[in-house]
Amino acid sequence: MFPKKILVSENDSLIIEWDDGNVSEINKYLLRKSCPCALCEVEKDNNHHDYNLFREDKTQISDISVVGQHAIKIIWKDGHNTGMYEFNQLFSLAEKGYSA
Ligand SMILES: [Zn+2]
Repeated sequence: MFPKKILVSENDSLIIEWDDGNVSEINKYLLRKSCPCALCEVEKDNNHHDYNLFREDKTQISDISVVGQHAIKIIWKDGHNTGMYEFNQLFSLAEKGYSA
């Protein structure tokens, strides 16, 4: 699966239009919690309830950019920008639906 179009909705969800025509919406909390960078892995280990990740500025998307042919980078309002979300990961997040 390959995203044809990726945009950020008004409530900071990620809207992805896939190359087969399907459209997915990924909830911002789910997205932030799933940040694959090493920093967040540590933070998740230290915070069993992930409460730090739910601070409002941590779950607002500032910008997104495409990285090569396989991933996007999300820049969050708190300045966090080390997470690369592979298209495969986005697809499996999308399948989890709207639950955060
Ligand atoms: Zn991260």
